[in-house]
Amino acid sequence: MYVFLMSLILSFIPFILLGFLAIEILLRHPNHPLHRLTMVLIVLLALIFLSDFLTQSLDFPIASQINPITAYVLSFTELTLLIYFFTILSRIKISGILLHMVAVVPLSGIVLMFLEPDVFHVSLIQGDYWRVELHSVSFDTMFMVIACYSLAYLLMTIIFGYRKLKLNRAYLREQQMMLTMVRGGIVASIWLIVAFLLGNVLPENPIVPLNNLPSYAGLILACTLRVAMNKYEFLAAAEQRYKLIFSLSSGGIALVNAAGIAVESNPAFRELAGEDDEQRDIDIFELFSEDSKVRYMYLFEQGFLQKSLPQNMQIQIINRKGVQYTVEVNSDFLEMEGEVHCYLLIRDITQQQKDEARLLELAYTDSLTGLANRYQFNLRLEEALERSRIYNHRVVVMQMDLDHFKWINDTMGHSAGDLLLINVARLIRQHAPENSLVARMGGDEFSLLVELPTDEDADAPAEMASHILRGFAKQIALREKYYHVSCSIGVCTAPLDGGDPETLLRNADTAMYAAKQMGRNQYQLFNETLKSTAEQYLMMQQGLETALENEEFSLVYQPQVDSETGNMIGAEALLRWHSAELGFVSPQDFIPIAEQSGMIRLIGEWVMQEAAEQAVRWMNEGYFTDMQMSVNVSASQLTDPYFAHKVETVLKQTGLPPQMLCLEFTESAAIREDEQIMALCNEIVKMGVTLAVDDFGTGYSSMRTVTSFPFHFIKIDRSLVYDIDRNPRNEAVVRSVLELAEQLGMKVLAEGVETQQHVHQLLQLGCHYIQGYYYSRPMKTADFKKWVDDRALELKRLEVVEDIRIAGQ
Ligand code: C2E
Ligand code: CA
Ligand code: CA
Repeated sequence: MYVFLMSLILSFIPFILLGFLAIEILLRHPNHPLHRLTMVLIVLLALIFLSDFLTQSLDFPIASQINPITAYVLSFTELTLLIYFFTILSRIKISGILLHMVAVVPLSGIVLMFLEPDVFHVSLIQGDYWRVELHSVSFDTMFMVIACYSLAYLLMTIIFGYRKLKLNRAYLREQQMMLTMVRGGIVASIWLIVAFLLGNVLPENPIVPLNNLPSYAGLILACTLRVAMNKYEFLAAAEQRYKLIFSLSSGGIALVNAAGIAVESNPAFRELAGEDDEQRDIDIFELFSEDSKVRYMYLFEQGFLQKSLPQNMQIQIINRKGVQYTVEVNSDFLEMEGEVHCYLLIRDITQQQKDEARLLELAYTDSLTGLANRYQFNLRLEEALERSRIYNHRVVVMQMDLDHFKWINDTMGHSAGDLLLINVARLIRQHAPENSLVARMGGDEFSLLVELPTDEDADAPAEMASHILRGFAKQIALREKYYHVSCSIGVCTAPLDGGDPETLLRNADTAMYAAKQMGRNQYQLFNETLKSTAEQYLMMQQGLETALENEEFSLVYQPQVDSETGNMIGAEALLRWHSAELGFVSPQDFIPIAEQSGMIRLIGEWVMQEAAEQAVRWMNEGYFTDMQMSVNVSASQLTDPYFAHKVETVLKQTGLPPQMLCLEFTESAAIREDEQIMALCNEIVKMGVTLAVDDFGTGYSSMRTVTSFPFHFIKIDRSLVYDIDRNPRNEAVVRSVLELAEQLGMKVLAEGVETQQHVHQLLQLGCHYIQGYYYSRPMKTADFKKWVDDRALELKRLEVVEDIRIAGQ
C-alpha cells in the first residue's frame, strides 16, 4: 500500500501535472512550431513519470515487460528533442545537417540497447521494498556519456544564446529569460547526475525508490520552462514583437531572393510597390523604369556576390499603379535555409526631397518675382569673376532701381506695388541679354549680371542698359490701367571697375544714384568722379536724417518789394542747413535728396511752423503788417493726404492770419496726380491762404496748370530775369506772362532781380513785385529787422527829399 501511495505521489501526480502543462503550452499558441515542440517534450516527460508509476503499481510480469526499456527509450528521445529545442530557443546559428547530427546522438542509446541487449543490459527486479532497475556497467557508462553529452550541449547553447543577447540591449527580456533557463538547466543537470549516481551507489531503502529520482531532472526543466513562459512569454515573444514591428513599420521591409522576388514583405512595402494582393509575390525589378532596370539588376547581382550593397541609396521607383517615389534603400544579406536573401529596408523620401528642393529654391530665388535673389546673385557673381580671371573676359554688373516706386507703393497700396514689381521683373527679363542673370535684390532694386567675351564690343554694356530702358518705354498694365514706369540704371564692369562682388555692386550702385540725380530714366556708366559725388550724396542723406533733431536747420528771409512804392509786401522763408559734418550745404543740393528720401515732409512742416511763428513775432513787433510770409512746399508734401490739415494746425497754433501765409510750389509738382492736388489747393485757398506758382518759365511750363489752379501769384523764374535787358525772347515771354496774368487777375512777381536795370525793365513791362539781391539777399532774423528799420528810414529820407523837391519847385 505504501509503495502504491508513494508512487502515486512521486510519479502519478507529476504525470498529471505535466499533462496539464503540455496542454497549457499547446493552447497558448497551437500553431507555433516551438510550442508544439515544447508540448511534445513535456508529454514525453509525463510519459516517463507514467512509466515510473506503472513500474511500481502494475503486476510485476507486465511491469517488467514495459520497463525499464520504455523509460529509457523515452529518456533518450527526450534528450534528442531537448537538443532541438534549446538550439532553436537560443537562436545559435548552426547548419541543419550539423544540428541533426548532434541531436541524433542520444538516440544511439536506444539502438545500442536493442542491438546489444547483453552488453547494454537493463532489467527490472523485485527488490526488498521497491521494484529496482538492474543495469550493466556498460549501460551505466553509456547512459552517463549520453546524458553528459546532451547536458553539456544544452548548457552550451543556453550560455551562447545568453551571451549573444547580452550584446544587444534590445533583448533584455530574452536575456532574463535565458538566465532563468541557464539556472534551471544547471540545477536539472546536477540533479540528474547526482540522482543517477545515488541510484547506483546507495543500497535500496524503504522510503523512496531511488530509480525514480533521475526523472525529476525533467520535472525541474519543465518547471523552469513554465516559469520562463509565464514570466517572459518565452516562446514566440521576440518573434511576435518582430512580427508587430514588421507589419506596423512605416518603412517598407522585404526579404528578397537572388532572383529579385520579395518572398516576404510588409504592408508598407506592398503599398509602395502598389500591390494590393497579399498573396502575390513582388518582383522588385518591376519597380524600376526600363532604362534604369538593367543597371539595378547588375548592382543587385553584384550585391549578392559580395553580400553587400551600398547603404542609403536614393532610388526612383515607379510602382504597379504608376506612382513615382523616391526611396532610400538600406540592405543586409542573410542566409536562410541555405539560401542567401537580401533584407531590404526602404523609406519613402519623396516628400522630404520635395521639401528640400523647395527650401533650396527658397534660399536661391525671390518668392515674389521668381528671379534670383541677392544670395544667388552674389554666388553667381563670385563664380563669374572666378571664370573671368581664368579666361580673361569681362563681367558686367548693373543695378536697376525703379523711379518713384515709393510713390506708387504709397498711393496705390502694397499689393499694387507687388504687382508692378512682378511686371517689371518680367520686363527686365525680356530685355536682358539671353545669358544674363537677373536678380531682385530687395524692394524695387534689381541687378543684372552678364559675362562678356573679350572680343565683345566695348559699348556692349551701355547698349544692354539702353535696351532695357527702351523696354520701359512701354506702359505697364496695373489693375486695368496703364502706367509709365521708368528706371535708373548704374553699370560697371569687372575687372576695370572692381574685382570683387562687393566693390562691383557698390560702384554699380553709385552709378545708379548718379543716373537718378541726373534726372532718372537713364543709365550711367561708373567712373571715379561719380564715386566722390555718390559718397557726398550718401553723407548728405545720412546727415539729413538727424538734422532736424540736432537743430541744424535755420531759416533766412528774403524781402519782396513793390518797386513802384518801395514798400515791402512780404518775405520768402528759405531753408538753411548747417551740418555738423558737412558744414554749410546749399538747399539746391540737399532739398532733392530730402525729397527722394521722403525727409522733406517733416522738414517742410518744420519750415512752415517756424516761418509762421516768425511772422507772428514780427507782426506783434510791428515789423510785418499787411504782408505775406511765403513758404516753399515740395511735391511730396502735396501728396501727403494730411497736408491741408497740417496747414490749418500751423495757422491755429501760431495765430497767423491765413491771408498772411503764401505757399509756393512749382507747377511740375502740381501736374502730377492733379485731381487730388487740385482738391487740396481748393481746400487751402478756402482757408484764406495764398498760393503761388514758383519758378515759372523753367522746364515744361504749362499755361494749363496755371490757369486751372487757384494760384494768386506767378513767380517768374530768375532764368528769365537775369538777361531780360539783353534777351528779347525772355522779354517776350515775361510780357506774355504778364498779359495772361492780368487777364486771369493774378499777380506777377519777378525773382532773381539783381540790378537797377532789371527793376526798370520789369517796371516798364508792368511787373512791379520784385524779389532779388537788388533789394536784399536772404537774411537772418536780426538782419532782417535791421533791414526793415533801415529801409523805413531810407523811405522817410526819400520822402523828405521828395517833399523838399516839391516845395522847391
Ligand atoms: P526758390 O524757391 O526759387 O528760391 C529762391 C532762390 O533764389 C533762393 O535760393 C534765393 O537765395 C535765390 N535768389 C534770390 N534772389 C536772387 C538773386 O537776385 N540772384 C540769384 N542768383 N539768386 C537769388 P536758395 O535759398 O539757395 O534756395 C534754392 C531753392 O531751394 C529754392 O528755390 C527752393 O526751391 C528750395 N528751397 C529753399 N528753402 C526751401 C524750403 O523751405 N522748402 C522747400 N521745399 N524748398 C526750399
Ligand atoms: Ca520759392
Ligand atoms: Ca523760385
